[in-house]
Amino acid sequence: MRRRRFGQWLSPHRVHRSLAEIDLDELAAHGIRGILMDLDDTLCPRDSSVTPEPIMVWLKAAAERFQLFIVSNNFSLERVRIVSDALSIPGIHGAQKPRRSGINHAMTQLGLQRHELVLIGDRLLTDVLASRRAGIMAILVEPILAERRFLSLGVRLLEANLLRLFGETPFQRHDPPAGADS
Ligand SMILES: [Mg+2]
Repeated sequence: MRRRRFGQWLSPHRVHRSLAEIDLDELAAHGIRGILMDLDDTLCPRDSSVTPEPIMVWLKAAAERFQLFIVSNNFSLERVRIVSDALSIPGIHGAQKPRRSGINHAMTQLGLQRHELVLIGDRLLTDVLASRRAGIMAILVEPILAERRFLSLGVRLLEANLLRLFGETPFQRHDPPAGADS
């Protein structure tokens, strides 16, 4: 029982290999109107400001139907501004996920309610935890770079093991039953 309660804080509602895989129709069917996005390793690699083409295509389709907002933990205003301008998506830096303040800020900016928001990111301990704490839908995606920097490898392995602990297979397509708690 204790494990289940703890697990809820770290359980994404969906797991996908990339943003580009996420079904916009399904999000709309869930009543989602705003998509909050992590930046580093979700929209573009941490060491680049170039968004891969499949993600660009997905973003363009998403922008026609949803309000988009970048919620980045990166402390560099310049870094977030460059990507934000390139994609024409507003955003904030220094969001301090897993704190909820960045999500609350985005929610206010977009004028939407919690049940209308999803946050998509590549980190369990920041993106998913922040979403769960804020009471919004959480989608975990595989980081864009396949090769991780040495320093973050331990954290990645921990996160993959946590996913397995709570019954997820890391980065395999996951389709929970309709009406899953979102
Ligand atoms: Mg990230």
